[in-house]
Amino acid sequence: MTKTFRGGIHLNEHKNTEKCPIEKLPAPEYVTIPMSQHIGAHCKPLVNVGDTVCKGQLIGAAESGLYCPVHSSISGKVRAIEEKKMTSGVSVLNVVIDNDFENRLDPSVKPFEKKLAETSSEEIIEIVKNAGISGMGGATFPTFAKISSAMGKVDTIIINCAECEPFITANHRLIVENPAAVINGLKILLKAFGLREGIIAVEDNKPDGIARLNALLTNSKMIRVEVLKTKYPQGDERQIIYALTGKELPMGKLPAEVGCVIFNAETCSSIFNAFATGMPLIERIVTVDGDCVNAPKNLLVPIGTPYSVLIDYCGGLKKTPWKIVNGGPMMGAAQWDINAPVTKGTSAILVLSNDFDKKYEMDPCCIRCGRCVRGCPMHLMPNYLGIFAARNNYELAEQFDIMSCVECGSCSYNCPGNVPIVQHIRAAKGEINERKRAKAAQLAASQK
Ligand code: SF4
Ligand code: SF4
Repeated sequence: MTKTFRGGIHLNEHKNTEKCPIEKLPAPEYVTIPMSQHIGAHCKPLVNVGDTVCKGQLIGAAESGLYCPVHSSISGKVRAIEEKKMTSGVSVLNVVIDNDFENRLDPSVKPFEKKLAETSSEEIIEIVKNAGISGMGGATFPTFAKISSAMGKVDTIIINCAECEPFITANHRLIVENPAAVINGLKILLKAFGLREGIIAVEDNKPDGIARLNALLTNSKMIRVEVLKTKYPQGDERQIIYALTGKELPMGKLPAEVGCVIFNAETCSSIFNAFATGMPLIERIVTVDGDCVNAPKNLLVPIGTPYSVLIDYCGGLKKTPWKIVNGGPMMGAAQWDINAPVTKGTSAILVLSNDFDKKYEMDPCCIRCGRCVRGCPMHLMPNYLGIFAARNNYELAEQFDIMSCVECGSCSYNCPGNVPIVQHIRAAKGEINERKRAKAAQLAASQK
């Protein structure tokens, strides 16, 4: 039986690329590699302009704390080190490398020598850290830190292969074409946590992927596939935990607080890759789609490749674009630069025409239909939150638990009154956080 959560919405899936095999993108002329593609401290470049680098070479690291090392995805020469604004609006140093097309591999890239059974948890964490692996579903939290912080607290490992956003089929193709990498990655994680049971959670719109996984797991007592109902936002951590365990994750708490830890399917296969080949995270699968793209595809792409290279490889554009989105249409971020680089968190690049623009034929107006309340996976009252946020009434918005909103966008999508609820909420949350930060800074200054 398919499992699910309460609330949520059914979207037009637009899974146009679900039958498109993953194609390896030819190496680009150059890559632009950001020193921060993860949550945590920015890395500092370990190379200088003019240096020659190898594929897989460590080119960025921070001195300590929460960070994720950065590696070169090609061999070549460092052309520039320059600051650029990223999707988030934050300025980050980028290392620009011209490809020499010699494909020289860094000598550090070699398989881990011990067998998994003889490998300790600490060694697995070290491998994951050195490979620069961060959450590839878009969250970009450093994976070694997720493992370390959940160690000893969890009894269930969940591999998230829900992929509930429209258009994106990168995880789907991964489990169809290389299910063993996901399963083996999960085995490594089970060893790290000392557990004997893991779940691969897949939405029921991927029957071929589910069949491929099950075919490899017929005799497995440790790993099972759980089929989830196709519904948005099924891939959200809280919803997936509820669907599989019936446990509700309190806001502000990590999944480990309810005994769970969740990894994206491609993150899991990258862990296996690092263990088996020693190759750090230098490439990822990207779905390139949208009604403007001539030939939508799934591509295996070196990190740092400009979006324009992927779009050209997909036959270029057939319509005037209205929006380029990094990620899915519900939670992805619109881009301003067609040459922005693919990062570890880029699961999709969507080029959409204004057919996808929500046309406002009337001024936004709440008609009190209650659809947003019924669909909110966090059981909030988006109708009121939208009003309080639009009126800058942050106090009431907080009383109505605005900070619990996961910004899934279900409310705005479903609103017949065209109220841009999530946009109001996002802006208000930003303002509330900013005020809290300013207050804390003021308090700290007054105590000096
Ligand atoms: S869905 Fe839109 S119109 Fe309906 S109650 Fe919510 S805000 Fe109002
Ligand atoms: S209020 Fe937040 S969590 Fe609820 S539906 Fe809207 S965006 Fe999603």
